[in-house]
Amino acid sequence: MNIPISSDPRVVIIGGGFAGISLARELSGTEVQVVLLDKHNYHNFQPLLYQVSTGGLEPDSIAYPIRKVLQEYPNFFFRLAEVAQIDTDNNIIHTNIGDLSYDYLVVATGSKTNFFGNERIATNSMAMKTIPQALNLRSLILENFEQALLTDNLPKRDALMNFVIVGGGPTGVELAGALAEIKKGILPKDYPDLDTRRVQIHLVQGGDRILPGMSTVASEKAEMFLEKLGVEIWKNTRVTDYDGKLAKTKGEIHFETATLIWAAGVTGALVAGLDNEKITVRGSRLKVDAYNRVEGVANVFAIGDIACMQTEDYPHGHAMMAQPAMQQGRHLGKNLLRIISQKPLLPFTYKDKGTMATIGRNKAVVDMKGMRFQGVFAWFIWMFVHLYFLIGFRNRVVVFVNWVYNYIRFDREARLIIRPYKRDYSAFED
Ligand SMILES: Cc1cc2nc3c(=O)[nH]c(=O)nc-3n(C[C@H](O)[C@H](O)[C@H](O)COP(=O)(O)OP(=O)(O)OC[C@H]3O[C@@H](n4cnc5c(N)ncnc54)[C@H](O)[C@@H]3O)c2cc1C
Repeated sequence: MNIPISSDPRVVIIGGGFAGISLARELSGTEVQVVLLDKHNYHNFQPLLYQVSTGGLEPDSIAYPIRKVLQEYPNFFFRLAEVAQIDTDNNIIHTNIGDLSYDYLVVATGSKTNFFGNERIATNSMAMKTIPQALNLRSLILENFEQALLTDNLPKRDALMNFVIVGGGPTGVELAGALAEIKKGILPKDYPDLDTRRVQIHLVQGGDRILPGMSTVASEKAEMFLEKLGVEIWKNTRVTDYDGKLAKTKGEIHFETATLIWAAGVTGALVAGLDNEKITVRGSRLKVDAYNRVEGVANVFAIGDIACMQTEDYPHGHAMMAQPAMQQGRHLGKNLLRIISQKPLLPFTYKDKGTMATIGRNKAVVDMKGMRFQGVFAWFIWMFVHLYFLIGFRNRVVVFVNWVYNYIRFDREARLIIRPYKRDYSAFED
């Protein structure tokens, strides 16, 4: 892989997400050689993907070049590579650009969309985990309206304008809210010759409340906000099949739709070699101890979504969210330096800073240590926190300016079909 030989110990990090970047930053300028590998050359700020899908932000403003994050540090090396296999017996990883040895390996590969083994849903639905997927969704939403204009077949037109979002977590809620705002503020102006009042947005949730990770107050308020925006919420409803036209649920309800968005869960992005049953838990996450060490392998660590640290307070591991990922990254950085200077390791303790979700303009819900906010104030907190954690000064400025512009103009100007999504609409013909 052409990495210079160094007398310093080599830490290889797989994944430049929230966890991997936080760790690399912690190790920058220290006496270790850091090699960060990622299959993309950018960090993806996933919490704002839904704004890319719905034309509120350009994709470039939520991505940041990984090389730029640590370009000042001579001990840092980045390679654009996909890791295929980990060989813990020989301390080597195998990638699509060659093999690499390590002294310490950190798996920070995050998670991927979980279709719970349903191949038909996986094939026919839209996921939103990566920037290309968000762009596909943006194109599909816009293409559906262009198609709807061309047909006088009413059931087909309705199916094209019928959006079904599966999963009532923050992603599903935020997407449903954004689509509802588009329906209200943008579609009537963009498509005056289409009856956009017929646009339907369905949010389907398997459990008995949306935002199950938040307080019941937040769930109820979010539900109220969404209903006010015209979103139909289906609780205790599980989508079991989607053939590209008809989405079936366990009950009587079914939806004819050209767009089923799957936001119903994620599963660990395991790498071969560390994917055996002994070290993984439900949800395909790697079992780690209090120091993020993968069970049974002394020099391999896992952080972020892929890691499951079971503690008394978190018996199923920490939530698969940005905060635990960043905190684990920073903490492991300190611990790796302690290992190298032969000091005892410090156990990780999660500092819960709260959770939040936005539903739309002036509408958000925030749960923070003993405090709960809903509405306009919560929305400002949500915006501030997202701007703060976004990587890159330019990105912060661009996102901020976009938000101000969108707020004043009630607009989302990135509704562009730059890269068409090839959707087969033939099933909707008579
Ligand atoms: C749509 C969406 C909205 C979200 N909203 C929120 C939110 O509002 N608040 C919040 O706290 N969390 C949110 N999350 C969750 C949050 O984004 C994740 O918890 C966080 O990204 C986890 O960080 P990570 O570093 O573990 O993984 P990631 O950030 O996913 O990074 C993993 C990295 O590993 C790379 N990678 C994976 N496999 C390989 C391989 N084999 N070889 C090389 N590279 C590899 C990937 O390319 C990626 O860059 C959201 C997630 C999604 C998808």
